[in-house]
Amino acid sequence: MNKQAVKAIELATQLIQSYPVYPTTFSTCSSCKSKQAKGGMECTACLEDELSSIVGYQAAKDLHDEIKKLAGR
Ligand SMILES: [Zn+2]
Repeated sequence: MNKQAVKAIELATQLIQSYPVYPTTFSTCSSCKSKQAKGGMECTACLEDELSSIVGYQAAKDLHDEIKKLAGR
């Protein structure tokens, strides 16, 4: 597997983990320092942004929408 694919999967996994089923600790995003993010990770906006630089804007947005739907947000 190439590095970009591995990175894309990592980012997608972090996006999924950003919508935890159980209450968890949220703190300020380690990247943009403005939005809330799950304990020490990047916020969903930064994760989507990074993912879009690999898979493209539309694919990243679609994936994020799908994750939100699954999480019931
Ligand atoms: Zn952020």
